[in-house]
Amino acid sequence: MAVKVAQEWLNACSGCEVSIVDLGERLLDVLAVVEFVHSPVLMDHKYFGQLGNKTHLEIPEAVVGIVSGGVKNEEHLEVLHEMRKKCQVIVALGTCATHGGIPALANSYRNEEIVERYYSTETTDKPDAVPNEGIPALLDACYALDEKVKVDVYLPGCPPHPDQVFAALTALVGGKPLELPTKSVCDHCPTVREGKGQVKLVRRFLQPPFYKSPDEPLDKMRCLLEQGMLCMGPVTRAGCGGDQITPRCITARVPCRGCYGPVKQNGNQRLDMLNALASNGIDFRGIPETVTMLRFSGAHKLLRPPRR
Ligand code: SF4
Ligand code: SF4
Ligand code: SF4
Repeated sequence: MAVKVAQEWLNACSGCEVSIVDLGERLLDVLAVVEFVHSPVLMDHKYFGQLGNKTHLEIPEAVVGIVSGGVKNEEHLEVLHEMRKKCQVIVALGTCATHGGIPALANSYRNEEIVERYYSTETTDKPDAVPNEGIPALLDACYALDEKVKVDVYLPGCPPHPDQVFAALTALVGGKPLELPTKSVCDHCPTVREGKGQVKLVRRFLQPPFYKSPDEPLDKMRCLLEQGMLCMGPVTRAGCGGDQITPRCITARVPCRGCYGPVKQNGNQRLDMLNALASNGIDFRGIPETVTMLRFSGAHKLLRPPRR
């Protein structure tokens, strides 16, 4: 009998859902053993009954509940609680769900500043047209899912690689545990490492790395961190390369920005990277790119900065 799955997106961009669709033909294998009972990205299932005649938000019961995105407003929170109530297993899909992710950059600002920025700056069509109804109230911060409900399975990544999504769904419907990589992006990176202590200054992120030609294999290119680029590989969980193993950004000769979050779920990615830079004597002060290090860890309870 097919396993019932419900899926929801909260403070999300839909990239994680695209990763599900990116399963391609494997989606047919998944659909043979899974029955989606609720999924805004795949089907038209209404919160308040198909005719809109119910008074309470309702999501069907399911064995597996997949949730992407963090929690930033009261509607997100209500949907998340309903998912937790109706699903036996909650899967946090993507770094927004596991740690807050890019939307958690909002945690550096007060809600008034966010609303003003969205509705009232010179780039808005109708400045000052802030709606006063139909918009869910904002929470005081963007939260990772496990700050609001119990999460059973974490699948980080921005977005998670479709190979990992497939492996996760296969494991879950088969009642098996999901094993995430326990190593760092560096452990899956083929670039050449010659040793620490040779870089003193972080280079601007937009500067290209040094390599001889586009045809040069990655295992001939010097490690990007050792080239002075701010590569978060040492403090980021491996897995983004999927079955191909080689990290996605490194394949494009771009430094890792840390999108898979810390190597361990509750690790402190930001602090670990600052420690790595400092202990190697690398000066990163005054380089705007250091802000990108905060991007994927901004909402986690351990890391959220105090708001003014
Ligand atoms: S983790 Fe990345 S891809 Fe997924 S919803 Fe968040 S921003 Fe989008
Ligand atoms: S720091 Fe970056 S380039 Fe160097 S080994 Fe790690 S992931 Fe690869
Ligand atoms: S290399 Fe880093 S930033 Fe790029 S996809 Fe992998 S984990 Fe994410």
